[in-house]
Amino acid sequence: MSTSDLLDLSAAAAAQALARGEVDSSELFDAYRARAQADELNCFTWVSGGEAPQALTGSPLGGVPLAVKDLFCTEGVPSQSGSRILEGYLPPYTATAVKRMQAAGATLLAKTNQDEFAMGSSNENSAYGPVLNPWDRGRVPGGSSGGSAAAVAAGLAPWALGTDTGGSIRQPAALCGIVGLKPTYGAVSRYGMIAFASSLDQAGPLTRDVTDAALMLSHMVGHDECDATSLGFPEQIALPSAESLEGVRLGVPEELTGEGIDPGVLDVFKAALEQAERLGASIEQVRLPHAPHALSAYYVLAPAEASSNLARFDGVRYGLRAEDAAELSGMYTRTRHDGFGAEVKRRIMLGTYALSSGYYDAFYGRAQRVRTKIVEDFRAVFERVDFIVTPTSPTVAFELGAKTADPLAMYLNDFCTVPMSLAGIPAISIPCGLSGGEVEPRGARSDARGLPVGLQLAGPAFSENRLLDAAHALERAIGFDSTPARA
Ligand code: GLN
Repeated sequence: MSTSDLLDLSAAAAAQALARGEVDSSELFDAYRARAQADELNCFTWVSGGEAPQALTGSPLGGVPLAVKDLFCTEGVPSQSGSRILEGYLPPYTATAVKRMQAAGATLLAKTNQDEFAMGSSNENSAYGPVLNPWDRGRVPGGSSGGSAAAVAAGLAPWALGTDTGGSIRQPAALCGIVGLKPTYGAVSRYGMIAFASSLDQAGPLTRDVTDAALMLSHMVGHDECDATSLGFPEQIALPSAESLEGVRLGVPEELTGEGIDPGVLDVFKAALEQAERLGASIEQVRLPHAPHALSAYYVLAPAEASSNLARFDGVRYGLRAEDAAELSGMYTRTRHDGFGAEVKRRIMLGTYALSSGYYDAFYGRAQRVRTKIVEDFRAVFERVDFIVTPTSPTVAFELGAKTADPLAMYLNDFCTVPMSLAGIPAISIPCGLSGGEVEPRGARSDARGLPVGLQLAGPAFSENRLLDAAHALERAIGFDSTPARA
């Protein structure tokens, strides 16, 4: 097989070729390593050197290389969560999600760049510099799993592991024209993930297609005794096979498909809904009355949890330590001053304020009540429809620097994805077309007409198998061409 044929294989196809002995695992690893080392998009914070790692013999994945978001602890390999404060940190253990992928035969190719502590929607908050979108290098890849998304879209890795707290898998997947799945909260262990907001953080796949997302998920799910919030998945995750949407009821929430969504994005979204109807789905308008309040609740709850989670970075146990302080408390302050970036400091201040005595109930308590309302909204809607469909992101990829001065504009990126995170339900983004034909792509092949738009499908907790099937049927019908990004 030629190198370019090798690199064209999806992860599932590569696993099959490896199992049949048509492809050699070191050859595959070296081909990807060469691509990753020559990366011009700043996707990686670390790329494997030395000998190609040996895959476990007889394992189902047989040596398919995997890129892993920086915030997953990987034994002896830098795990910095995109932050200066963890620069050079080498964990003594590996996160369960990564370990399970390795046990299934995946090999660690690289660690991917991300927004610092997963706070961001553009990857511009990384201490290791922004990641460029392979469709247009003047634009952001989305965030916070931007390195993972760009690497997969550009063909620098067959697939990647990311995390999603409010949209960080789905939104970059949408902006880079790939598939991203946020599983049901608790389906995948959080053990060894450097925490942002523990009641929301969830690991999941960023892949070229829906089958690869199912394959990765199938190897990661399940209870882990190291994470008390992890749950046994009630059934086996199967590879999707559906080609029709006959009998599937899709709900389009008014609140997430109107004001605030770019008209070009809405056009592509509506065309995808027509495709779904042709495949046999029925479509109805539904209401999620509290969804417009999701972002406000999220930006109280997530910073509150972050302010507590990030208290551990004090210069004593991990990474950076300020050397010039006269005494202990000065060392703490100096380390945190030098080690955290501006967005992380903003969130710590927001969170600490929201939790402070006298304000706790007014902010944190209220946001929790909104969260419950959102859970109830979804519960009511899923009595009537199987899945909710929305655009994943209100816009296509925007230019680098366009929103860095305006945090609120940046936060709006997650308008459509945060409600599902608060409700803990699974949601997948698949590419459904291109928008913005007037853009002049820099770096992508000249046949690209516009930038990718993502379609989000969300279902009740543990509906992953049905969700993946529906996404698979739709993906086939849409036939999105992702090759321009791999040029
Ligand atoms: N963009 C959102 C934030 O900045 C979500 C990030 C995430 O999902 N990790 O918090």
